[in-house]
Amino acid sequence: PLAGRTALVTGAASGIGRAVATRLAEQGASLLLLDVNEAGAREAAEQVGGEALTADLSDRTAIEALGLGERGIDVLVNNAGIQHVAPIEDFDPERFELIHRIMLQAPFHLTRAVLPGMYAAGWGRIVHLSSVHGHRASAYKSAYVSAKHGLEGLSKVIALEGAAKGVTSNTVCPGYVRTPLVEGQVADQARSHGIAEDEVLEQVLLARTPVKRLVEPEEVAHLVGFLCGPGTDSINGQSYLMDGGWTAQ
Ligand code: NAD
Repeated sequence: PLAGRTALVTGAASGIGRAVATRLAEQGASLLLLDVNEAGAREAAEQVGGEALTADLSDRTAIEALGLGERGIDVLVNNAGIQHVAPIEDFDPERFELIHRIMLQAPFHLTRAVLPGMYAAGWGRIVHLSSVHGHRASAYKSAYVSAKHGLEGLSKVIALEGAAKGVTSNTVCPGYVRTPLVEGQVADQARSHGIAEDEVLEQVLLARTPVKRLVEPEEVAHLVGFLCGPGTDSINGQSYLMDGGWTAQ
């Protein structure tokens, strides 16, 4: 269904981004795989079949230098992200601003760059990797939670502006997904709590989640692929939670 379409996925070297790129390629899209990790992006591009782009999304000048307006991008997946956990009074302000630049401002700059082309084509799909933390808060994640809540708002504005021009904008909001990021957390938590890794899952990460397992990246990718596929013209400005029931409570 995406044959002849070009898709840009950010943070495509790892985890969810790589799975999304794989899924969109399976659906026929030509892929642009962007990451700050140059070797990782190149490896992912070889695996998936696509072109690697290297840029640090915290740097607006670097984004502008990509010349994305001339790339004919039909699908944009804003996925790149990082985490930092600390109480507000100890939270490094530089780190806070960095997280907002990568996870809220970069999606704005990227959207701004690709929208004119989508409007000219009369079709476009923008999917943002948000999180349960776009809808719920956790202590010590002030930058991440506020960036994701902001991303939810940005997505809705894009949805309203793009609606008459064939462009939709939606967010996908997973609970904990099995990626290098989370697997690192599991090992750390196991060490600091002195418990086994599967106990960390149940007692810490999945404490509020009725489905007692991590979400797989491929499940997230399947949902992103659906939102870019046929029959989705009327799905706009929505959030899709894939959280094993966390927010049902
Ligand atoms: P990951 O760490 O496996 O991959 C993130 C990728 O983003 C990496 O390849 C990294 O190099 C890239 N990246 C980081 N900073 C960048 C920058 N400045 N410029 C360009 N690329 C940069 O992470 P993941 O778990 O796959 O997360 C992907 C997205 O999904 C994030 O937005 C994250 O917030 C969201 N998410 C993840 C989970 C989870 O449990 N893993 C849950 C909900 C939402």
